[in-house]
Amino acid sequence: MSASAERTSAYASAQRPGYVRVALDVPAAQLGVSLFDYAVPEGCAAQTFPVGTWVVVPWGRGRRIGLVAGWSAQPDIDAARVRPVERVLGDAPVLPAAWFDLVEFAARYYHRGAGEVAMPAIPKLLRTMSAAGGGAGRESSDARAGASAPEVRAGGRVRRARTSAFDRARARWQAPAERVPPPADEQPAPGLTDAQRGVLDALRAEEGFAVHLLHGVTGSGKTEVYLHWLAEVLARDASAQVLLLVPEIALTPRLHAQLVARFPRERVALLHSEMADAERAAHWLAVAEGRARVVLGTRLAVLAPFPALAAIVVDEEHDSSYKQQEGVRYSARDLAIAAASQRRVPIVLGSATPSLETWFAARRGRYRSHALRERIGNAVLPAVECVDLSGAKLRHSLAPRVLEAIEATLGRGEQALVFVNRRGYAPVLSCAACGWLSRCANCSAYRVLHRIAAAPGGAATDERAVASRASRYRLVCHHCAAEQPVPRACPDCGNVDLDALGRGTQRLEESLAELFPRHRIARLDRDVARRRGAAQRVLDAAHAGEVDLLVGTQMLAKGHDFRRLALVVALDVDAGLYAADFRAPERLFATLMQVAGRAGRSGGDSRMIVQTRYPGHPLFAFLARHDYAGFADRQLAERRETGLPPYRHQAMLRAEARQLADALAFLEAARALASGREASDEVSVFDAVPMSMSRLQGRERAQLLVESVRRASLHRFLADWLAALRATAPRVSWQLDVDPLEI
Ligand code: ADP
Ligand code: ZN
Ligand code: ZN
Repeated sequence: MSASAERTSAYASAQRPGYVRVALDVPAAQLGVSLFDYAVPEGCAAQTFPVGTWVVVPWGRGRRIGLVAGWSAQPDIDAARVRPVERVLGDAPVLPAAWFDLVEFAARYYHRGAGEVAMPAIPKLLRTMSAAGGGAGRESSDARAGASAPEVRAGGRVRRARTSAFDRARARWQAPAERVPPPADEQPAPGLTDAQRGVLDALRAEEGFAVHLLHGVTGSGKTEVYLHWLAEVLARDASAQVLLLVPEIALTPRLHAQLVARFPRERVALLHSEMADAERAAHWLAVAEGRARVVLGTRLAVLAPFPALAAIVVDEEHDSSYKQQEGVRYSARDLAIAAASQRRVPIVLGSATPSLETWFAARRGRYRSHALRERIGNAVLPAVECVDLSGAKLRHSLAPRVLEAIEATLGRGEQALVFVNRRGYAPVLSCAACGWLSRCANCSAYRVLHRIAAAPGGAATDERAVASRASRYRLVCHHCAAEQPVPRACPDCGNVDLDALGRGTQRLEESLAELFPRHRIARLDRDVARRRGAAQRVLDAAHAGEVDLLVGTQMLAKGHDFRRLALVVALDVDAGLYAADFRAPERLFATLMQVAGRAGRSGGDSRMIVQTRYPGHPLFAFLARHDYAGFADRQLAERRETGLPPYRHQAMLRAEARQLADALAFLEAARALASGREASDEVSVFDAVPMSMSRLQGRERAQLLVESVRRASLHRFLADWLAALRATAPRVSWQLDVDPLEI
């Protein structure tokens, strides 16, 4: 029996449950509590409170909006201290029980309270008291009056104080007929190729829950397969909803336009964290009320309350952006699979470079695997070569081979892209006289030299002149965002010749401008993208052929279709080959495949050149063959030998404190608590160690790894261990990361 069916029958058998358990948005983290007992007021029908009902409850001396998450005959605390629910929000939709199933799953899996999962998933506008009809941030007099005389009436109907946030969110969304017409340049759906049709037939053949891996190189037409498949799901059932997840906000505008054009009669809801509050509330509510049947979003969209979710696509499923890095550290991809399983609907995970977890499941036959091996049209993947940096005579850190290739490409009127995954001017400023480095005072990291104004009269590259040009540069920490002016002289020894070491996108742009003065150069990274619309302007210019040379970070790697791009150069990749994090090669390979995929989209010869000190590294041999399967199988073999995920399941307990010793002491105490606990013989608990970047924003951080061959044993152990840990009322701040991505 599913959790919701159980709940319904428990509900039916309890004639009048005396208490409701309410999920509240209160800082209850680490107490292990996030559901609170409230009494059902006398004379009130039980039906007033199905799970998913929005209620106003007293909290301290104020009141809060909460969600009914369950019932109980007996409260957890002294019954005399339990206060009654004040009222029901009559104009808010009762959230679907299937959504609560997912919330409960996430709460169990990540060992957090259900309220900690549920409440942050609701747009702020709808979970603060202003949603109840009061003024923003302030409680209305109606609510106050309600404190002495509960306003809940039989049937839950409540007179509305004034237009609530829910009603405002429903006006905001125009009816489909009034919507803007689809962009004119959108083509009608192309007929599928045989390969695409084969995949679509296979997807269609499966009824109910199934996880499909769609492994296809970039440009192989995966998106087209998603769109056809989703269209069929929508056509089969008039209430069905579909969800398309993408890893980054930057990928949503183009896909949104595509979806609007493809589904002209549907509302296409968009959900991501950078939407204005009111807009997000409007879209979220349209999803919750089933008015929006097509939903596009980033990771948070997986926790939207779909009443009738019928199919899910997770595009670029390997992308680490699917993992939430604060609060409840969920993986949106994994929750999407859980949601599909609970609702018995199919899910497609698409990628050119699937995560090893997904690849492993597909190899074991748990996921159905489908491949698109060819690019659409006559597009071919670029030829890949490595240029050995050792012994090469570099100009502006570029090997002669690379400079020749860029020159030849530009000479033919084609575009070139130089990829370096490091923004700013130079990663560190140093003093050659005494060894001073621009360390961040708050973090164990260097402050990065950033140019804040363009150099007058073109590029100036004399490294030693940096200090005298101090006013045009700043030092910025990429971890805590602290900024400072560039010192005019070394703070330790007074030397005025400070050196900018290494190269970021800004400096590379400057160097290329000097090397190729007659060509048009554009840069794209997060600094550029900070100005509204700027990223789109760069991309549009690149698409329109107004740019010859593109310089940028990962931002250039994803989802763009540059027609004339014939050369890709990748710099500074070696750190990923021998990093301490065992996932670093997997990430590097995915990134390089993705960047390579930008080239050669319109046919013709194209090339990728990687500058490296280790041209013989096996990763590059797989890259040269565009052989993801070979690379992944070899990585899996290594992981099996060394006992790493996906052959082991991991959780990381992290702690932070002002002093490293305090964080370590807490973890050591936690380790001591672990021995002899249930299932602990199947679980390994490692030593507490400082994190690789131990200091962040002035806090010292340490971690302790827990691991097991069996997932169930790990979770049984964690539940028991965390309960014991919470009982010690620790005074350092700590959190648990299940399936951590960063080790
Ligand atoms: P992927 O998602 O695998 O990177 P896309 O679905 O974006 O690939 O397809 C790459 C390009 O090929 C896009 O420009 C798309 O419009 C085009 N395309 C995809 N399928 C077809 C098809 N069946 N016929 C013609 N063009 C197609
Ligand atoms: Zn010095
Ligand atoms: Zn810092």
